[in-house]
Amino acid sequence: MTNAKPRGQSLYEEACEVIPGGVNSATRYVGRPYAFTGADGAYITDADGGRYVDYHAAFGAILLGHNEPLVNDAVRGALDGVDLIGAGVTPIEIEFAKLICSVIPSAEMVTNAMSGSEATAYAIRLARAETGRSLIVKFQGGYHGWHDAVARNVISPPSLAYGMDPVSAGILEQALTSTLIAEFNDLSSVQALFDEHPEQIAAVILEPIPHNVGALLPTQEFVEGLRSLTSSAGALLIFDEVITGFRHTLGGYQSVCGITPDLTTFGKAVANGFPLAGLAGPRSLMSRFTSAGGDVALLGTFNGYPIGCAAGIATVSYLRDNPSFYARTETLGERMRSGLRSIVDEFGFAGQVRGFGSVFVLYFMDAPVLGYRDLMRNDDKAYLEFHRRMADAGFFMLPMSLKRNHVSGAHTEDDIDRTLEASRDVLKGMLHD
Ligand code: PMP
Repeated sequence: MTNAKPRGQSLYEEACEVIPGGVNSATRYVGRPYAFTGADGAYITDADGGRYVDYHAAFGAILLGHNEPLVNDAVRGALDGVDLIGAGVTPIEIEFAKLICSVIPSAEMVTNAMSGSEATAYAIRLARAETGRSLIVKFQGGYHGWHDAVARNVISPPSLAYGMDPVSAGILEQALTSTLIAEFNDLSSVQALFDEHPEQIAAVILEPIPHNVGALLPTQEFVEGLRSLTSSAGALLIFDEVITGFRHTLGGYQSVCGITPDLTTFGKAVANGFPLAGLAGPRSLMSRFTSAGGDVALLGTFNGYPIGCAAGIATVSYLRDNPSFYARTETLGERMRSGLRSIVDEFGFAGQVRGFGSVFVLYFMDAPVLGYRDLMRNDDKAYLEFHRRMADAGFFMLPMSLKRNHVSGAHTEDDIDRTLEASRDVLKGMLHD
């Protein structure tokens, strides 16, 4: 018998001494002192040797699978080239930009950054400069990064009141009051804001599928209505495709719904886990950046980072050259969704399975699930208990209620079927406890 502490616990305690809260992003502490030491394909391994089928996928940044050799090899190749110069341009940046312009329908020009938050900050600043207006409309529950311009109404539990609910202390009051909140899938709530603030709204920003609250699917009427409302009001439409981009199709959700946004942000999956994000749009708007002689600052020491570009080129060209990737991950996603639905039906509890393509969500609530307010009925505790028990069984789901789970290119039918078997056992256990 040994009294040795689990290694994960020791590492967590060690981390707490030098890293605030022991984690480098607040949503990484999930009620347990997890420490991970390995990742391969569909699997992650913790510091005590526990192996999990991973559906967290680094919040969706892992698309092809962990440590995908074709991406890692491209990165190794890039390590022998230019590291970082900080003047001029490198060929790999041009190659990446051309590739993005060839796959995202609304992209004539593209610039890149290290994180999705930077991309949305650029987009909003550009929209304000272009329109000369200050107000931004976002949707309740939508998340677009951690910065002030999108800080309002992020972490609130679903509620009927549109509070400020800032993501953090220390946010400028004016940033919060310059953000107006509308209800997803409710065009009249957007129209009302345009009526109330004529010629003051610079842009409407949305996750075309709000994956930060799971998977609310937009109606076609809603996205078409947003396009015509913003155009006729002289405001820009920003599709934040940081999650939907590259995960669902090569062209993002805009290629699914056939709507052309003015600006598109992307990140996460574009480089299969390497830091890279970007902003794409028409030449007319993108030429406002100071780099092109315009008046909107485009600055960043690491912008165009060659290693990120190498990973991005490898990931996106793989997706372009292997269109069956999306059919396969969607089939696996559907296998998971229909399997979970059968389990919900078999046990007859209030559960709703939603998702799109490779993404699946289990809400612990009854129907309907159309807008954010519907999510007020979700039983968060039940989801967290489901997560905990699934982790104990070796299946790592996203440990936050109202988020989503991701199938990657490395998952197999067998992984899905074993996950369903475990889900059945876990849900049965929960219903009997
Ligand atoms: N937009 C969306 C839709 C996101 O989900 C996120 C991150 N969860 C961001 C922007 C911010 O990206 P990052 O965390 O890379 O700054």
